[in-house]
Amino acid sequence: MRVLKFGGSSLASAKRFTEVANIIADKCQSTPVAVVVSAPQGVTNHLVAMADNISNEVQMVSDLAKFKHEIQTIISELSNTVSGFDVAHSEAELAKWEIQLNRYMHGANLLSFCPEHVRARIISTGERLSVAMLISVLKATGHQASALVPENFLITNEASLNAIADLNECKQAFKREYAHLESISVMPGFIGVDDKGQVTTLGRNGSDYSAAVLAVCAEAECCEIWTDVDGVYNADPRVIKDAKLLDYLSYQEAMELSYFGAKVLHPKTIGPIAQFHIPCLIKNTGNPEAPGTLIANETDDKQQVKAISNLDDLTMVNVSGPGMKGMVGMASRVFAAMSQEKISMVMISQSSSEYCISFCIYSSDAKIAEQSLNQEFELELLNGLLEPVALQSNLSIVSLVGDGMHHQRGMAAKLFSSLAQARVNVVAIAQDSSERSISVVIEQRKCTDAVKVCHQNFFSHRPTIDAFVVGCGVVGSELISQIAKQQQSLKAQNIDLKVYGLANSQGMVFDKEGIDLESWQDKVGVNTTPLNVDNVKAFARDNHLINPVLVDVTSNEALALTYADYLGEGIHVVTPNKKANTDSWAYYQKLRVAAQSTNRRFLYETTVGAGLPVIDTLQNLIKAGDELVRFEGVLSGSLSYIFGKLEEGMSLSQATAIAKENGFTEPDPRDDLSGMDVARKLLIMAREAGMPLELSDIKVDSVLPNDFDASGDVNQFMQNLPTLDKSVAEKVNKAKAEGKVLRYIGIINGGKCQVSIDAVGADHPLYSIKDGENALAIHSRYYQPLPFVLRGYGAGAAVTAAGVFGDLLRTLAWEQQH
Ligand code: ADP
Ligand code: ASP
Ligand code: MG
Repeated sequence: MRVLKFGGSSLASAKRFTEVANIIADKCQSTPVAVVVSAPQGVTNHLVAMADNISNEVQMVSDLAKFKHEIQTIISELSNTVSGFDVAHSEAELAKWEIQLNRYMHGANLLSFCPEHVRARIISTGERLSVAMLISVLKATGHQASALVPENFLITNEASLNAIADLNECKQAFKREYAHLESISVMPGFIGVDDKGQVTTLGRNGSDYSAAVLAVCAEAECCEIWTDVDGVYNADPRVIKDAKLLDYLSYQEAMELSYFGAKVLHPKTIGPIAQFHIPCLIKNTGNPEAPGTLIANETDDKQQVKAISNLDDLTMVNVSGPGMKGMVGMASRVFAAMSQEKISMVMISQSSSEYCISFCIYSSDAKIAEQSLNQEFELELLNGLLEPVALQSNLSIVSLVGDGMHHQRGMAAKLFSSLAQARVNVVAIAQDSSERSISVVIEQRKCTDAVKVCHQNFFSHRPTIDAFVVGCGVVGSELISQIAKQQQSLKAQNIDLKVYGLANSQGMVFDKEGIDLESWQDKVGVNTTPLNVDNVKAFARDNHLINPVLVDVTSNEALALTYADYLGEGIHVVTPNKKANTDSWAYYQKLRVAAQSTNRRFLYETTVGAGLPVIDTLQNLIKAGDELVRFEGVLSGSLSYIFGKLEEGMSLSQATAIAKENGFTEPDPRDDLSGMDVARKLLIMAREAGMPLELSDIKVDSVLPNDFDASGDVNQFMQNLPTLDKSVAEKVNKAKAEGKVLRYIGIINGGKCQVSIDAVGADHPLYSIKDGENALAIHSRYYQPLPFVLRGYGAGAAVTAAGVFGDLLRTLAWEQQH
């Protein structure tokens, strides 16, 4: 004998009814089956709405019509698709129950009150019609099936809407009533009967529990729960797309998971089948070949954490006050008040100071809980011994479950650091001493983020980088094509890098699925949203992106001045843009505080020396206690290139034009020629070394003389530039005559910074630095007398983009450390 339970999702349409009938027909060949059915999906909700609207006749009638329509649709479809289906019988059943429902409702309407046992009758009507329809389908396909009546044996307590079965009584009654079972019998789920003969219901989603009780009574060899998924997954598959199917769960694991929200099983189901050691199989009606998930007695500690679940719509109640310290019996009074109102406490925690008891309840119980506590503690509240009872709503519980968590170190630590990573605040914590589950209470709006990050860190080990790229110029385009090229190979290394937003000067295009980078040019600038922190934040929040990164590949100052806001909202910032780090010292510090406060990273390796690891090297030296004594170097790839070309006899204007074309210059070459770009780099280095300097403190020797007209747009500037060719050529030739070359050199010495055009001879280390190369010599306390030298291309779209890409990947390092 096997019990097969089919949920509402398995009975949502005529097609599904026939699938169910086929499964039953197949099973009953080898063993008798007792089938438990839910109401077709959605039907119970209409009935509940009806019972809720007892005083609103119009609404009540409309809910009844919806209910009738749903059932009638299935009946009509069945009559069209199943030959021999007895339509008249099903329609007669529907009409009979409609009359019954009308009676209940008019009675309740007259009373302006719907007693719980009447409500129980109303909301369980869907199950009764499922039985009638299924028996007719079976009959039409040549299978006789008899009805099992829960009122004959499924004896419960008097909690009409959330009843608990008395297993001993149920077993005895079942033996009496059903000594012999046909090869197929069908029972409505969800329904019980109390000792006064009143109908009770087993709680929403309670047909699973009906199946478990029936399995115990019929001494079934297995209780099969047929639903719309292949089994139990390691997280809710609606939330986690790559959730993994579990082939086995112990009773305890299943109990914890269902209790903490895995809807696939009603929490009361496991108790009876565990007590009587009946294996339980979760199967998919739409995919009967899939093996499903087996739930049985053996503990399974091969894996530490088995699954994550989440339970929503909770309220936290806090009873606290100076009067609670050491007051014996406070907890029992709190709990008694709740049990009197039949309110179940989902989770309890008490602080060791005995000053506060906090517990979670379903939000639907919050009002009654508050009233009842206020009543119970009226005196203490009046005398100020207790603070007013505090309620915090819109909470969820996220739980990690697994037999293997027992005695394992670091599980809680990993959980909390994962939550910190998703910037989820923990309201309360609970772990029982079996160590089979750890639960945290968090804000419901953050629940998906929390489940996602936990799934990533405990199971998929596939961290994400959720990028928003601003700027599609030379470096930006190169970065996008590098990302496009690498996406697949990163995926193979389990890193999921997607660009969710792409902005040019018109605004940002967002794509929930991640922008297809093969054709990004067609998308950028089309249907844009203004680029600002609120829009990026809202997009990241709505799409539960847990590792958002703003990648600014512009040299825009206004954008740079909003980085602190992005960081403050939990968005990493990666950029080659020097404007932020060279704004005021106060803003420089503000950026670091913002990043620290949200545990996010501000990464700008490419601001100095493009792809050369300058910033990282310097930061590590300083962290290790080193000090910058002196620095000198060629810091500008564009000027290195331009001065190299001058040396070969090219004019300034021509060399600049070629450098610009190759992406060696800043978008506006004046930033390079004015010396400001080098000054900014020097300032960034000085600040990294701990010098609180401002840009105005840096002495800059410009390539552009004071009397040169550098106004207008970039094109105009490029047109004016040849007027300088002659004077520059003269300087170059003068140096040449002395056996020297001109180099644009940045120096930090004695706490001062200076950028100048120097003529250097063949013996000078920077003599050979040209063609876009950078050279940086760091003289420090550790590196002396020989300096630490870095040398390589310090400009160019490819190396800069690769450096930005590197920073982008470093947003993951933070995740992995924690
Ligand atoms: P039925 O109508 O068969 O009773 P339910 O809707 O009550 O089905 O339960 C099945 C649903 O439970 C699945 O469709 C899935 O969305 C949800 N669910 C939540 N957590 C899990 C989980 N860990 N594994 C499988 N399903 C889950
Ligand atoms: N039909 C009931 C409900 O929707 C019971 C069940 O489906 O398990 O809650
Ligand atoms: Mg269910």
